[in-house]
Amino acid sequence: MLGSTEGFLKGVRRGLSLLAAIVCLSGTATADAAAQSATPTAGTPGANPLVRAARLWPSPEYSRITLELNAEVAYKHFSLKNPERLVIDLTGIEPEQALVEIADKVEPHDGYIGNIRVARNRPGVTRMVIELKTEVRPQVFTLKPMADYGHRLVIDLYPASLAAFEQQIEIAIETAGKRVDSAKAASAPAQADPAPVADLRSRPAQTAAKSNQQDFVRLITIAIDAGHGGEDPGAVGAKGSYEKHITLSIARRLKALIDKQENMRAYLTRDGDYFLPLHERVNRARRVQADLFVSVHADAFIKPHAQGSSVFALSEKGATSAAAKWLAKAENDADLIGGVNVGVKDVYLKHTLIDLSQTAQISDSLKVGKAVLDEIGGINRLHKPRVEQAGFAVLKAPDIPSILIETAFISNPEEEKRLNDEAYQDKLANAIVTGIKRYFDRNPPLARSKVARNL
Ligand SMILES: [Zn+2]
Repeated sequence: MLGSTEGFLKGVRRGLSLLAAIVCLSGTATADAAAQSATPTAGTPGANPLVRAARLWPSPEYSRITLELNAEVAYKHFSLKNPERLVIDLTGIEPEQALVEIADKVEPHDGYIGNIRVARNRPGVTRMVIELKTEVRPQVFTLKPMADYGHRLVIDLYPASLAAFEQQIEIAIETAGKRVDSAKAASAPAQADPAPVADLRSRPAQTAAKSNQQDFVRLITIAIDAGHGGEDPGAVGAKGSYEKHITLSIARRLKALIDKQENMRAYLTRDGDYFLPLHERVNRARRVQADLFVSVHADAFIKPHAQGSSVFALSEKGATSAAAKWLAKAENDADLIGGVNVGVKDVYLKHTLIDLSQTAQISDSLKVGKAVLDEIGGINRLHKPRVEQAGFAVLKAPDIPSILIETAFISNPEEEKRLNDEAYQDKLANAIVTGIKRYFDRNPPLARSKVARNL
C-alpha cells in the first residue's frame, strides 16, 4: 500500500531538512589533523613525486579515486560541461604506468565514472580527465601518510544533489512498509474479500483487537554498521584476512536475520567495499530513525594470543580500561586512514551540540550490550565478562542506543579462522539477533513512530 509509508517518509524528510543540525560528535582532534592535510602544497622541494598506486572505489553513493604517492603533490581541479568531466592537473608528475593504468580499472557498473584519460598536458604537468556519467559534486583533497599508506590524493565524486541519497532511504523505508502490508494481508484475508455484515458482527472481539494491533506494527529499525571499508581495511589477520570484509559479511547476515522478524527491519550503513566516515555512519542511523545502532568489528592486538568477543558502549568519561582506550583510538583512526574531507565534515561540526546528555543513551546501550554479550558468550569465549565502555566516535549518536561488537580477535590465528567460517558467522549473527530481541522484549521502544502505517 503506497500511502502507508507517507507519514513515516514525511518524518524522514523532516529529518533530512534538519541535516544541518545533525549532531556529529566525532573527535575534533581528528578533524584538525585532516584539515592540515587538506591544503594543496607545492610538494617536497627538489624531488618530483611519484605515483605508486592508483585505486578506484566505486559505491552506490559515491566513487572514490585514490592516488598514492611518495610525496605530497600539487594539483588543480576544475569541471567541464557537455559532456560532464572533471579535470585534475598534477604538477611535477609524469604519466607513469601506475597512473595511466587507472583507465583499465574503471568498472562498467561505476555509477559516476565513465572513463579516465591520463596524458602529459604541458611540460611538468600531467592531466587526468575523468569522464562522468552524471553531474557530480567533487571533493578533492590530500591525506598525509597513515598506517601502511603514503601521501594520497583523494578524488571523491558525490551526486550533485542529496536526491540520490534521499531516494535510497525512501526505498529502504518503502520496503519495510510493504513487509508490514503483506504480514497484515496474510492474517486478514477478509479485508481483501468483503464479508457479509452478519459475519463481521459475529467476528470475535479478540480477532478484531488482534487485527487492530497489526494495523499499528511498531517497526523496530536496527542500523547495522559494518566497520571499516574501502581504503580502510581495519585490522589485518595473520593469514591476511581483512576486518572490513569479515564485518560486511557478518553485517549482511545480521540484516537477513533481522528482516525475517515480524516487527524489525535492518538498515546497512554500508553495503559494499567503500569508505564511510565515522560521523556519516552515525548520521545515516539517525536519518532512518534507528532504534538501535550496532557496529560490527573484529579486534586486533599486538599479542597474537589475545582472544574472545567484546561488546562496547560509549563511555561518559574516558575508557574503562587502558586496552579499551587503545582499541578506541585504533577504531577512531579509521577516519585518518580512510580519509575524510574536512570541508564536508565542517558543515556538521559547526552545528555540533556539545553538551548533550548521553546518560540515557549509555544506560540503554549497556542493557542491550549485556543481552548481546550474554548470547555471544554461548558461542565464543568472552574477552571480558561485562560490557566495556570506551570513547568510540561511532557510538556517539545522542539519541540511539549504540553498541560496538568486537566479534573476535582477527589477530589470533585460531579466531581468524573462525571469523572466516560461514557457519560460524551465521552462529554469531544468530546470537547477536537473539540478544537484540531479548532486549526489545524487555524494553519495548517508545511510541515515537508507532504508526508505521497511516490507516
Ligand atoms: Zn575495527
